[in-house]
Amino acid sequence: MGRYIGPVCRKCRREGIKLMLKGARCESAKCPMEKQNRSLPPGQSRAFRRGQASEYGKRLRETQKVKRYYGLWDAQFRKYFSHAQHASENTGQALLGLLERRLDNVICKLGWAASRKSARIAIAHKHFMVNGKLVNKPGYLVSQLDKIEVHKREASRKLVRALVDADPNRPVQPWLKVDTANLVAGVVSLPTRDDVQIPVEEQLIVEFCSR
Ligand code: SF4
Repeated sequence: MGRYIGPVCRKCRREGIKLMLKGARCESAKCPMEKQNRSLPPGQSRAFRRGQASEYGKRLRETQKVKRYYGLWDAQFRKYFSHAQHASENTGQALLGLLERRLDNVICKLGWAASRKSARIAIAHKHFMVNGKLVNKPGYLVSQLDKIEVHKREASRKLVRALVDADPNRPVQPWLKVDTANLVAGVVSLPTRDDVQIPVEEQLIVEFCSR
């Protein structure tokens, strides 16, 4: 599978929102989205290419935005969409709910990794356990009442402790609870549409993927 090695901030500029892909830099004044002349879409002659987007273009951008935010390739995204289509609830909401439940997203939301990308690397390096078992799949879907903890190894604890201590008052989403002293967290309830933190029109994604 390919790997994107280009400038990450370009993705935010293309989507026109902060996708928070670079950890602490995203919160700082260094973020290009905070600078008026650098927050425009990337590419040459960009000033001339900002006309009205077509209906197809709007749906494509909405889909790309979500894929980039969660760090997914097209094939992975299609798999989630197919799962969501079989859910009893609204397909768009089911899709976002599934994506929110990914372990890399949860680790990032808990503040145990600087970004989803760092979370994916840390999970692959076996720094986290779910319900007492090592999990090394970033796409593992957490369930209600799951217990997530940092591995007892000193290296794992040091890695996460440094991040937690750097931002002790970090707010945690209502569907998660965390015990920062022991580096243990729990899933109180499954995430709802309101827990998705980027502005997204899921109906456009459903229309794009249902073509
Ligand atoms: Fe770059 Fe983060 Fe700003 Fe996006 S939010 S432009 S990744 S610094």
